[in-house]
Amino acid sequence: MNDTFKHKGLRKKLVAQLREKGIQDENVLAAMEAVPRHLYLDLAFMEHAYEDKAFKIGAGQTISQPYTVAFMSELLNVRKGEKILEVGTGSGYQASILVELGAKVYSIERQKLLYDCSRHLLKKLHFNAKCFYGDGYAGLPSFAPFDKVIVTAGAPYIPNALVGQLVVGGIMVIPVGEGSVQTMVLIEKRAEDDIVQTELGAFRFVPLLEDKSWAR
Ligand code: SAH
Repeated sequence: MNDTFKHKGLRKKLVAQLREKGIQDENVLAAMEAVPRHLYLDLAFMEHAYEDKAFKIGAGQTISQPYTVAFMSELLNVRKGEKILEVGTGSGYQASILVELGAKVYSIERQKLLYDCSRHLLKKLHFNAKCFYGDGYAGLPSFAPFDKVIVTAGAPYIPNALVGQLVVGGIMVIPVGEGSVQTMVLIEKRAEDDIVQTELGAFRFVPLLEDKSWAR
């Protein structure tokens, strides 16, 4: 497991592409340049780690496209020390970007295999996110409230529990929609009873699953 000069060069190019595609947050761009994405992919895909594409990571799941990770991270407007809940740990890449941005990250994954792999990988790479095996629809009531919530799977609807676990003034980013294309939604909790939603374009995610029997 190493990060080479070549990989660093490829990351610089990826960051230049993200800039061209409209990502402006310098902290996000620096985090994308720092986190070695190739270490989160199966060996077979390592060569492609710095293309702006999503890839399969096992258990039928994917590591999100770098642009999507950057876009969502930018929307979250992460400040150092903030508590962030991520639903869908997957490879652990998005969680690592948030850690790199200075957040305290709590991430939930419902597939045991991915939970085990990403937890070990994050530890090994010293990205200090707290990983949980469980159902993202429920969030993490015992660790709430969170300053920010990020859902990295396509949700058929906005889970109430997650909005409930946001601080007043907090924001959530969640792709919403059934089928293969979702709408990115930014949710701002201005007061307990004042929730503002903004739609921000179409993205593709694997589904946020509800039926526990799918978990491995
Ligand atoms: N953030 C990930 C990409 C995740 S893909 C990364 O950076 O690699 C979406 C993930 O959500 C998958 O790993 C999937 O298993 C997980 N998932 C789906 N439904 C879930 C649920 N109800 N609770 C928690 N995780 C869920």
